[in-house]
Amino acid sequence: MIIRDEAEMVEYGRQLAHKLRPPLVIELLGDVGTGKTTLVRGIASGLGITETVTSPSFVINKKYHTPHNSTLSHYDFYRLEDPGIMSAELEESINDPQTITIIEWAESVADVLPKHDTITIKYLENGTRELESTL
Ligand code: ADP
Ligand code: MG
Repeated sequence: MIIRDEAEMVEYGRQLAHKLRPPLVIELLGDVGTGKTTLVRGIASGLGITETVTSPSFVINKKYHTPHNSTLSHYDFYRLEDPGIMSAELEESINDPQTITIIEWAESVADVLPKHDTITIKYLENGTRELESTL
């Protein structure tokens, strides 16, 4: 799938959201700035979340409630070698039947992840991205 710009990434996330049913775990793969958080913004919008989605990289986790009694739990473990207590917090999200869990930079928590879906984003030239999804 080719994504030409930020607006297309948000729209892709919005459409994808309609297919997502909790419980679900998605790992986002791709370099810094490829658009992982932008994609989560689109997914949140498609799930009916009106709150602004920002990168959770400093707080590690942000949770958003949808109007349908489900939760979007967004993690970013960037440069965190030891996730500590956040690893247990992540397991709670994963085990919640009403939660869709999306994780950026999941390497340090690989041992607590069940079998999960992945979306990989790669830079092409001029703002274009290539997206590959197992969903
Ligand atoms: P990540 O979470 O992967 O580090 P972000 O979503 O925070 O990336 O940032 C992606 C940046 O790249 C944004 O500033 C966005 O405007 C820009 N951008 C340019 N082209 C695209 C594209 N095709 N898809 C997504 N983001 C894009
Ligand atoms: Mg990000």
